[in-house]
Amino acid sequence: MKFDYVVVGAGLAGITVAERLASQLNKKILIIEKRNHIAGNIYDSYNEDGILIHNYGPHTFHTNDKEVFDYVCSFTEWNDYQHRVMSYVNGNFVPMPISLETINQLYNLNLSEDEMEKFIDSKKVKIDEIKTSEDVVLSQGGQDIYEKFFKYFTIKQWGVSPAELDKTVISRIPFRKNRDTRYFTDKYQGNPKHGYTKMCEKMLDNPNIKVMLNTDYKEVIDDIKYDKMIYTGPIDYFYNYEFGKLLYRSIKFKFETYDMESYQPVTSTRYPMDYDYTRITEFKKMTGQKHPKTTILKEFPCFGDEPYYPYPTKEWKELANKYREKAEKEENVIFLGRLAEYKYYDMDDVIRKALDVFEEIKEKDSNR
Ligand SMILES: Cc1cc2nc3c(=O)[nH]c(=O)nc-3n(C[C@H](O)[C@H](O)[C@H](O)COP(=O)(O)OP(=O)(O)OC[C@H]3O[C@@H](n4cnc5c(N)ncnc54)[C@H](O)[C@@H]3O)c2cc1C
Repeated sequence: MKFDYVVVGAGLAGITVAERLASQLNKKILIIEKRNHIAGNIYDSYNEDGILIHNYGPHTFHTNDKEVFDYVCSFTEWNDYQHRVMSYVNGNFVPMPISLETINQLYNLNLSEDEMEKFIDSKKVKIDEIKTSEDVVLSQGGQDIYEKFFKYFTIKQWGVSPAELDKTVISRIPFRKNRDTRYFTDKYQGNPKHGYTKMCEKMLDNPNIKVMLNTDYKEVIDDIKYDKMIYTGPIDYFYNYEFGKLLYRSIKFKFETYDMESYQPVTSTRYPMDYDYTRITEFKKMTGQKHPKTTILKEFPCFGDEPYYPYPTKEWKELANKYREKAEKEENVIFLGRLAEYKYYDMDDVIRKALDVFEEIKEKDSNR
């Protein structure tokens, strides 16, 4: 059998483009996935206690892109959910991102919106030339905000101080001058009613799509007949690390289940100063599941084998560009998604990108 497309990787990027090609253009697709499941990093499953968890870290869908939201709505219903995050500072939880509520609670004040602006202005450090992320935060929020929310958190998250990161990494402090304590303000947000994996299963439910799990594409690709490839795996691996290996920040995940209904005040708590983990997520608070026990996840950023976040410094962007230049010359391969583009994408961004790739293919097909 010959396939029109081989898609490498059954994550959101690969699944979206495969779904469009199969359902709209009647293309025959083979998806090759090296893990033992579909859905990539948005994979979720029920643990031994029957609680729905996100195996590769907590995911909340949020977007202002109506077309993307309409697209995902054709595969799942969504729960009504507004993501809330609190930071643990000086032994108390305060709302994130930093808002009027945060400042008032942190400094035991009762400021109005205008007064907050003046208060922040009085704390700002004057810096003549902004070069680093430390300069950005000091000049926009001052020393105390820098230490309480950014300095140690960044050291945990990236393994280096903001003083060693370019100004583009933390380009601004997302101060909110009102009392809105939602983490995202996008028009559409939530989680699929029956989970992300079920949503992905529905997207793949098409006789034109075959999925091969537990297989690195390089093991089988020479024996498969196909016209084109859509590659969503790591770009450096595609080229056998010809220019060197790209750096990613990884995360060690520690799941814990407690015999209690509720563990913490909101879905996600951040620990900018205390402990080795960066945040704790309580899954039931995102999924709305009712259960007498609760499962939480602690995240410990590290350098490790599993690639999660492209490293945000010039050196690695330049190396990725070398691979990108090579990839642009490929005639039969399209590089798509967070690993193939060495770019952090939220879920809505990666779906948007995959829909755009599909439209380009459709356009070319109709001109043939
Ligand atoms: C901790 C964390 C939390 C996040 N939280 C959010 C959030 O709250 N909201 C949000 O919108 N986004 C979030 N994201 C981003 C979201 O995970 C991505 O947008 C999405 O997973 C990107 O999909 P993808 O298909 O590009 O990559 P992936 O999901 O990684 O899919 C790529 C697939 O390719 C497979 N593959 C790799 N190499 C090979 C090979 N050689 N052969 C075969 N298969 C291969 C991989 O196994 C993987 O399944 C988060 C990301 C992380 C890391």
